[in-house]
Amino acid sequence: MEDRLFRNAMGKFATGVTVITTNRNGNIHGMTANAFMSVSLAPKLVVISVGEKASMLEHIQHSGTFTVNILSAQQQELSMLFAGQIKDKRHVKFGDLQGAPTIEGAIAQVSCEVASTFIEGDHTLFIGRVKNIHIEDGEPLLFFNGQYGALAVGTTLQI
Ligand code: FAD
Ligand code: NAD
Repeated sequence: MEDRLFRNAMGKFATGVTVITTNRNGNIHGMTANAFMSVSLAPKLVVISVGEKASMLEHIQHSGTFTVNILSAQQQELSMLFAGQIKDKRHVKFGDLQGAPTIEGAIAQVSCEVASTFIEGDHTLFIGRVKNIHIEDGEPLLFFNGQYGALAVGTTLQI
């Protein structure tokens, strides 16, 4: 099967966009990711999936921690920066959630300790035990069909 067919099909699943951050020996590294899911309420667990070629893989293996920052609609540029789609180096001022590095202005920050790790194909799944959460008002950045987007005004469903 063609990779493009698989990616086109997966791209039909509209997602939010996160930047995963981790602090390895005082150096903060960020990576854009949309492979993120809530796993369990008791205990509170989430999962992220990191490609074998991503330098983030080794950083999380060393730090044993990561923060999931759910981006706001105003943060497309940060998503592009941490996906390597903006080539020039930029200075990013990170926030702090009880010792965990965060992306300021993200609509949710979820700091985790790695609870378990599963290598599956060319990605590694990190199950994160949630330690702390910070939430802010705002609309999410979306990713669909390989394109960024935002919620259309007035489309919030009334049930
Ligand atoms: P690098 O390529 O080294 O870093 C990524 C970029 O972040 C570089 O431009 C770097 O300069 C910048 N950066 C990192 N830390 C800092 C810092 N402290 N200050 C300033 N800039 C910094 N890949 C996955 O494995 N899983 C996913 O779920 C996933 N989802 C994605 C979703 C979207 C919408 C997009 C666009 C990409 C996604 N990717 C995903 C691909 C992934 O974001 C890229 O392959 C990324 O470049 C891999 O990052 P890296 O860890 O190898 O780090
Ligand atoms: P795209 O058409 O490549 O992505 C559409 C969807 O395909 C994504 O939402 C994801 O679900 C899936 N996908 C893409 N690459 C994947 C991979 N290597 N492993 C597993 N699933 C993958 O969109 P795009 O605009 O071309 O993406 C920009 C870059 O970001 C590409 O290099 C892409 O490979 C990468 N990306 C990687 C992942 C991932 O590793 N999980 C997810 C999204 C995007």
